[in-house]
Amino acid sequence: MQTPIPFYLKEILDQAKPNTDGEVADYIPVLAKADPERLGLALCTTTGHVYSVGDDEVEFSIQSISKPFVYALALQELGVEAVKKVVGMEPSGEAFNELSLGEEDHRPVNPMINAGAMTTTQLINGVDSGVEERVERIRSFLSKLAGRELQIDQEVLDSEMEGADRNLSLAHMLRSYGIIEDEAHDAVLTYTQQCAINVTVKDLAIMAATLANGGTNPVTEEKLLDADVCQLTMAVMSSAGMYDGAGRWMANVGIPAKSGVAGGLLGMLPGQLGIASFSPRLNEEGNSVRGVEMFRRLSQDMGLHLMSTEERYGIQPIRNVIHEGADSYFYIQGRINFNAAETILHELFDYDLKDQNVIVDISRVNAVNRMGRRMLKEGLRRLREAGHEIAIVDPDNVMPNLEMRDGTMVPVREQEGALDPDEELRDEAATLTALAEESAAEESSTN
Ligand code: GLU
Repeated sequence: MQTPIPFYLKEILDQAKPNTDGEVADYIPVLAKADPERLGLALCTTTGHVYSVGDDEVEFSIQSISKPFVYALALQELGVEAVKKVVGMEPSGEAFNELSLGEEDHRPVNPMINAGAMTTTQLINGVDSGVEERVERIRSFLSKLAGRELQIDQEVLDSEMEGADRNLSLAHMLRSYGIIEDEAHDAVLTYTQQCAINVTVKDLAIMAATLANGGTNPVTEEKLLDADVCQLTMAVMSSAGMYDGAGRWMANVGIPAKSGVAGGLLGMLPGQLGIASFSPRLNEEGNSVRGVEMFRRLSQDMGLHLMSTEERYGIQPIRNVIHEGADSYFYIQGRINFNAAETILHELFDYDLKDQNVIVDISRVNAVNRMGRRMLKEGLRRLREAGHEIAIVDPDNVMPNLEMRDGTMVPVREQEGALDPDEELRDEAATLTALAEESAAEESSTN
């Protein structure tokens, strides 16, 4: 059985599908050949659950989405101070290929657009590194973030190198001010290879979730970055990640994000999840049209805006599970938001329920937000559809609206007769105390 999350993502995807606004990028000739209809969406939680819909296996070049990750790698390798010496952390509100340097020190101000990103790339693997070794360091690091070996798309690389005049001029300028040491051509070749690494939306969602998870890839569980590096990277993304649309993006969507000219877009909610989309047609600011639309919907529906005042952080939402005859009681606690509901549904749908009745006891839940409510009800509806009898126990009415999407109501059971969820836990604690007392008594008698 499948949890409702992929269906929810599919709904978002289907709503965005008819939108044909925007144009595919054509300044890199091979990108102009991209199939504009491609559409994919993926989500990865910091608990490592990955959900994806649409063209989720289709590879495309990461382009500018590599920038925050290479910035994070530079911070990790060299520390904040060393990175700050050559690149600032200000949103420049300019296009990706703008030459925006600080007026006095000529440092690029924004690490999320090309001048700053090329400078950051030059820090990787030490200033003396050759092009190949530096690129390999970046490729293998991005691979670890994605949890699989990523490859460079040679066709995209060649195509971009053929028309790299703008980036070459940025590199010459940076070199003339002593910001980078490499030959301009080598700096551009390194940076362009970084941009030509192929990814899927699933890769991007996992990479984003790794930042959201404080640097541990939630799927492979490999620790890749320090938590403060992730925090700084996400902070810079939140103000500078969306080209010249960064301010409006933060106001409307409120998710730290980065987009790329091949149509990729990723974002994350610290401590919660990573999201990624792919749709090649871009708006005037260079952001994926349908990607922006899907993110806006997700942010609104799921209450993901960073500045939302809705409480989002919960404790372990399942307190206990008790089976009593034909009934299985799931005792839920805390506040139920998207993340908590995802954990509950994941557990419920993973359980070997046989033909048990499913009773969700929410008497210890103090709040359920809109998304949490919607997901719980939909999960229960699906369980009923699969043949289970369902009910909730809700003596304090924390779930005000019990109507499910098919118009029927979630049945309510009285608390009387329900089991004591803590009985088992107390028994366990009592046994442990008794054992400890026994061994203490034994020890004192042998002394
Ligand atoms: N490789 C592209 C460039 O530097 C990346 C641009 C982007 O994705 O914004 O022109």
